[in-house]
Amino acid sequence: MIPFLDLKAINAQYRHDLIDAATRVIDSGWYIQGTELKAFESDFAAYCGAQHCIGVANGLDALTLTLRAWKELGKLKEGDEIIVPANTYIASILAITENRLQPVLVEPDEHTYNLCPTKTAAVITANTKAILAVHLYGQLAPMPELMALADEHGLLVLEDSAQAHGAAINGKKAGSWGHASGFSFYPGKNLGALGDAGAVTTNDDELATIIRALGNYGSQKKYENLYQGVNSRLDEMQAAMLRVKLQHLDTETQRRKEIALAYAKGITHPALSQPITAHSTLTSLENHVFHLYVIRTAEREALQTHLANTGVQTLIHYPIPPHQQQAYAKWNEQSCPLTEAMHQQVLSLPISPVMTDDQVDAVIAACNSFEMP
Ligand SMILES: *Cc1c(COP(=O)(O)O)cnc(C)c1O
Repeated sequence: MIPFLDLKAINAQYRHDLIDAATRVIDSGWYIQGTELKAFESDFAAYCGAQHCIGVANGLDALTLTLRAWKELGKLKEGDEIIVPANTYIASILAITENRLQPVLVEPDEHTYNLCPTKTAAVITANTKAILAVHLYGQLAPMPELMALADEHGLLVLEDSAQAHGAAINGKKAGSWGHASGFSFYPGKNLGALGDAGAVTTNDDELATIIRALGNYGSQKKYENLYQGVNSRLDEMQAAMLRVKLQHLDTETQRRKEIALAYAKGITHPALSQPITAHSTLTSLENHVFHLYVIRTAEREALQTHLANTGVQTLIHYPIPPHQQQAYAKWNEQSCPLTEAMHQQVLSLPISPVMTDDQVDAVIAACNSFEMP
């Protein structure tokens, strides 16, 4: 079986360095808010081209705490409308509703799965205060256009960069476009820890200070609490793991792109649509880091069964859109036909830096041998 994502093999590549890093943390006697976190924050801010990086417990908290910090700063208030793609992973929406802000679900671009500037502009009202731009599947949202739109209307922009570490447009990376950006280092993400971890990047000094306080009980100085904060910190052990893995991120991304290119060229089945990138041709690929390689077909169930029978594990990202979840029962009647069609048709092929060329060829052959029911 070709696994969808072989995390064990990915981390085994760095086994010695990871063990050295873990040993360093164990022997330091200091496990929270120490030198590993400081070093990782500084490395990751530099990697993204942002002034600040604030480590937090996970990607959801990165988004939630940023919106919360804007509320503390008086830039957002309860009930404000936040535009977000209807087809995103539920975490983007949870961060909005947790803050009692109002998500405005907008249908994505049909080809890129990301926000479309025209459709986004069409839902801006006097109550709109921010855009949550999700870089879905690893492809950067159209940030030049979205930032121009936000400037025109005085909106905040929060990037959800959980799937897009290192994706760029004109050399400018995810995490440096919006007023702030949330990252996840969940083990399966392109930059994955060996547990939960996340971070916010921003160029805003004041915002950075408040997020840092919010994630540490609302405190900047021990035992003095400015806010009713939470405990959301990136611990020393995960920071040490991430420092090791950050050094290999670009090499791993390169391999993901090679595999994506091989799929794009090799899969010729007429009933399977390939992911299309908006800002680069498939030979430059700057704006897509292929966290996922998502194809579409009206015969998804049959294709998934065929691939499984041929020894190829696939997953669906995602089977149920947020507005059809029980958690958001009040939106269940809302109609988002494009989003709903995507959720019925998308299928994610295996893509990971440790796949061999033979495995890539086997996936291509399995796709091309699919017989329509
Ligand atoms: C993974 C993910 C998150 C949440 O990150 P966690 O670290 O799992 O909390 C948020 N948004 C998107 C798009 C994601 O893929």
